[in-house]
Amino acid sequence: MRGRHRAQTSGSGAGVKAATVAAATGAILAGGAQLGAASASAAPIQLPTLPAEAANLLPAGVELPTSIEVPDVPAADSIPGFATAKQWVNDQVKQLSPLKARTVQPVSGTLTSDFGSRWGAHHGGLDIAAPIGTPIRSATDGTVISAGPASGFGQWVRVMNEDRTITVYGHVNDYQVQVGQQVVAGQQIATVGNRGESTGPHLHFEVWDPAGTKIDPAKWLRDNGVSVTWTGNGHNDQ
Ligand SMILES: [Zn+2]
Repeated sequence: MRGRHRAQTSGSGAGVKAATVAAATGAILAGGAQLGAASASAAPIQLPTLPAEAANLLPAGVELPTSIEVPDVPAADSIPGFATAKQWVNDQVKQLSPLKARTVQPVSGTLTSDFGSRWGAHHGGLDIAAPIGTPIRSATDGTVISAGPASGFGQWVRVMNEDRTITVYGHVNDYQVQVGQQVVAGQQIATVGNRGESTGPHLHFEVWDPAGTKIDPAKWLRDNGVSVTWTGNGHNDQ
């Protein structure tokens, strides 16, 4: 009698709550059992560290969390070609990397000089004439390795891609990046100027291959899928 009374004193609400919790726990357990059946490991897969390039996929100023939880990883034995679910996750992340290889036209304007021989000397880049202040955008993702004064160029910016290709932006009027900064393709890094040995406002654009050799930027842009919008034919020696 006393026990019943105490039970009633604790309130029917408490009983309902307990029942609700029990029901909910049952549901969770049932869900867990289902997960266990569908997945080799019911615990969510943790990506320990994202590759550095993953951060470069994001717009400037946006940061990724240090780890990403992947809730719906298929069971390892249901993924042909992968021994573990973690290998599958890593493969999924790796498939994002083609996005990183994107390349963009660095400036709008008029192509006035090609790569190659010009006036009896070698011209190591392209000249694209444009008004002073025209935005110059990094042609690739990468790290800024120069931003400041440079002999002949007045000022320059250089960006090194992860594959060690270097893009060079010469005669810039000013620049919006500093050495060591990560930039993404298309991000404004400088503006067109007329500094250094220059006969008019233009961007002098060079591409150095990973060995440090200056290569034809027009071919490099084409090879990377960029169709430039420059007017002018850029023919040298005219
Ligand atoms: Zn030039």
